Amino acid sequence: MFSIFEKITRSALNLIDPYVPSDTPPTDSVWRYIRANLKPMRKAIALSLVLTVIAACIEVWLISYAGKLIDTLAQTTPEKIWQVHGGEFILAALAVLFVRPLSQCARHVVNDISISCNVANLFRWRGHQHLSKQSVGWFQDDLAGRTSVRLVDLGNQASYIIGGLLNAVAFGLVYMIGMIILMAQTDIRLALPLVLWVALYMGIMIRIIPRMVKAQRKFFSAKSALVGNVVDSFSNFDTLKLFSRREDISADHKVSLELTREKLFLSRQISISMNTIVVLLEGLIMVGFIGYGVWLWSVGAGTIGLIGSAVALSLRITSLAEWVLNEVWRIFESVGNLQESLKTVAQPITIPEHRDAKDLVVTGGQITLEGLNHQYGTGRGGLNDVSIKLGAGEKVGLVGRSGAGKSTLVNLILRFYEAEKGTILIDGQDIRTVDQDSLRGAIGMVSQQAALLNRSVYDNIALGKADATLDEIMAAAKKAKADDFIGELKDSKGRTGYDAHVGERGVKLSGGQRQRIALARVFLKNAPILILDEATSALDSEVEAEIQAELQAVMEGKTVIAIAHRLSTIAQMDRILVLEEGQVIEDGSHDELVKQDTRYAGFWKRQSGGFIGADEE
Ligand code: ATP
Repeated sequence: MFSIFEKITRSALNLIDPYVPSDTPPTDSVWRYIRANLKPMRKAIALSLVLTVIAACIEVWLISYAGKLIDTLAQTTPEKIWQVHGGEFILAALAVLFVRPLSQCARHVVNDISISCNVANLFRWRGHQHLSKQSVGWFQDDLAGRTSVRLVDLGNQASYIIGGLLNAVAFGLVYMIGMIILMAQTDIRLALPLVLWVALYMGIMIRIIPRMVKAQRKFFSAKSALVGNVVDSFSNFDTLKLFSRREDISADHKVSLELTREKLFLSRQISISMNTIVVLLEGLIMVGFIGYGVWLWSVGAGTIGLIGSAVALSLRITSLAEWVLNEVWRIFESVGNLQESLKTVAQPITIPEHRDAKDLVVTGGQITLEGLNHQYGTGRGGLNDVSIKLGAGEKVGLVGRSGAGKSTLVNLILRFYEAEKGTILIDGQDIRTVDQDSLRGAIGMVSQQAALLNRSVYDNIALGKADATLDEIMAAAKKAKADDFIGELKDSKGRTGYDAHVGERGVKLSGGQRQRIALARVFLKNAPILILDEATSALDSEVEAEIQAELQAVMEGKTVIAIAHRLSTIAQMDRILVLEEGQVIEDGSHDELVKQDTRYAGFWKRQSGGFIGADEE
């Protein structure tokens, strides 16, 4: 028995494949978005609707049979009842005992398993596929925490909306139509008040729902601001603690909370009015319908069975009206929520893949920048008209004061941002026309932050090469002088060494340890172009000196761009570019630039083996 149930429910689960890719990008209109994603659910939805009609018909039949039964009993003598109606009673009993539970069970299997277990993931999967194509710049502009919450939430809301529409609205609608038909068949005079009542109920819903939606939207907007506020303060918790701003944060939080309370209050005012109206309508149908039936009976125009049906019907319809109302309320609550999520998730891809994108083919690693301009849409800062050529295999140091545009230049080469003007060519191929993965696959990058994923050390290093063996990973860690500390790692769950997890963004490791793991994965990646953005800044000088030798070996034959404030680490590069206010103002070898005695020479002189000072002139 259990294995049959398991088989049926499992095939119901597989009725929808939640991982089918979408053929259109998400839109920010809720209904269009839902409609565009219905295709993989078509079979399940059709089945659910058929089962809904069957289940509702059985319910309607049950009510009509109750009335018919009373009439039968009233019109037949007790001695004859079993003889005349015995067979019919047995059939009716079998229908109630078996057909009704079976049809309800089938409906729940489709609604609660095929649809409910898959829909949320289908929407999340598609949302994730879309977001993973967003540029790094896009993620930097929005709060990652809020984006994640919205992506997960989007699945829940879409699932509530589709489930609610199928479960309550479709069932309620079929049920009501069924009852009107039933009443019309038994007595047209009873169908008329029912039609009027349904029209009144729908009319009130249509009037109140837009107000409800508006109120809900305001509430969700306030809730979204609250999430933003919490994400911002919790992700910068160290800074806030450092400045002892606990009271200020609490005050800010209270303002956001109060706003959500006020908006929820307005929304609840509408929901209470709506509920009260529905209860009044329920009273209307109970008094009107039963009273009308009694009056028909008193003037000899209706049977006692008709009154029985009217009582059963009015009781059933009142509970149904309340249930449908609650479901409609929940659906619109979800519509408001989904709309809020789509504001983030449905944003168009900021740097879409070129239509005929081909893989980048690196022959030597020559990088050419032509008239490159990027000021983050602000008209200032960033890079301003940079044209340079980095030869194949050339090692170039980028120098400049904070804010000069060094990271912007690197971010544009990686296509984390799309240059506002100008072109970047790698071995003659415009990076806008090559496959973005192949572009980043050809570049190894270690940055100052060296953020790690909250996975094991092994997984973090293996990011450099998908099919890396443990030996390769250990060899890379050794080169990056990371093997000693990795051997001693132990996380809170008792995992050790390469299996130890490093915490979110690698917080359980020191800055220098993180940087060594980041170096190890770049060593493993062995890409033809290397970008080192303050790649050794977090290391102590002893470890840095040890790694420098390894780095020199790794740089062999590669085109290298190295950013460093500590000039001693780049003095031996083939060429040094000095950036200032987004422009290259000096270009030459260390010796040449020192001889010219201009900006770089000034930096060099002022550094007593240290850094370019913030107040450097
Ligand atoms: P540092 O040495 O401090 O890392 P940098 O030379 O790498 O500085 P960039 O990060 O490239 O400098 O910044 C160059 C300019 O562009 C700065 O004026 C900065 O304010 C601006 N900028 C950087 N990122 C953004 C952004 N996402 N939006 C707007 N302006 C930005």
